[in-house]
Amino acid sequence: MAHENHRDLDKPEKPRRVQMQQNSTTHSVNTDGAKAQNSTEEQDSRHARNLLQNAESFFQESVSYIERGEGRDWVFAVVNLAIALELTLKAVLQSEHWTLVFEEISVASKQSLQTGHFRSVTFQEALRRTQQICDVKFDAKDLRYLEQLNDLRNQVLHFEFDLHIEQVKGLVARGLNIFTHLMTTRLRRGRDLAFELSSRLAEFERYVTERMRRLAPRIAKSRRPPAYFRECDKCGQGALIVQNGLPLCLYCGSEPTPEELAIGTEGDFGPCPNCEHGRLGFVLWNNDEGEVLCVVCGFRSDGPARNRVCDYCGDDFWDASGDSLNTCRDCLEAKLGDD
Ligand SMILES: [Zn+2]
Ligand SMILES: [Zn+2]
Ligand SMILES: [Zn+2]
Repeated sequence: MAHENHRDLDKPEKPRRVQMQQNSTTHSVNTDGAKAQNSTEEQDSRHARNLLQNAESFFQESVSYIERGEGRDWVFAVVNLAIALELTLKAVLQSEHWTLVFEEISVASKQSLQTGHFRSVTFQEALRRTQQICDVKFDAKDLRYLEQLNDLRNQVLHFEFDLHIEQVKGLVARGLNIFTHLMTTRLRRGRDLAFELSSRLAEFERYVTERMRRLAPRIAKSRRPPAYFRECDKCGQGALIVQNGLPLCLYCGSEPTPEELAIGTEGDFGPCPNCEHGRLGFVLWNNDEGEVLCVVCGFRSDGPARNRVCDYCGDDFWDASGDSLNTCRDCLEAKLGDD
């Protein structure tokens, strides 16, 4: 990297506010640095820097709202954070190769990059490329929170939505971790930024930890779903318990249905034979070992047992041996009774 760029990265110019299109199909980049840029290398690094600066601006903005932290401030905190995360993903892509920020790489050109008139990669695709091309590792849970944050942002921009402050706070806490992790591991400037902001964020992070600490005794006394299903998708906190046979998050109050939890696994395997409301999800422990697990009571089966549909009454039934005929016990008994 040229010495010139190195210095600029260490001492970034004051970030400028940029105009963002809401659905982020296009974006315009800063056009500062009016002096003629001759080498394309300089231009490339300028674009990369702009993306990063924009990510930082939105992040700073999000932090300001978090600091204020009242009512609708959380809407702006979450929207700004989601945009900051998306721009950070793009900055990671750009640091790999500039064409990767184009939605269609085959039409990528330096000219459209400079004018900023192009369809840039969608959030989902940026997420895919950072993992598949840039080798960024996210665990499955981080991916879900990133998607939740992005959904929330889209809801704010496009639909009516109910602001659930504790959910948003939990998600923001998760999102902040992912953001600083991405910045510090993948982008040079990240460490400084994380350091600058850590004291401003300390109070908020204490708030989330403190709240979880206060909930801990209640959580410890409660019945809980099996370990894999204890984190709430809505707020990102490990606060799910089982109440009246159904999942409930003590942190944010959300009540995910057993079906929703099962759908979040590798596959929904139908109702649980062991509890009233439970649902079986297929959980992959590693590349070739998996298990069918009830999201509520923890019933597990790695054998041939499975849910089947009865040929006679059409109901689901649990086939414990895995080789019974497609007839449920009730229908079987009724048939035997007839004979
Ligand atoms: Zn929750
Ligand atoms: Zn169960
Ligand atoms: Zn039947």
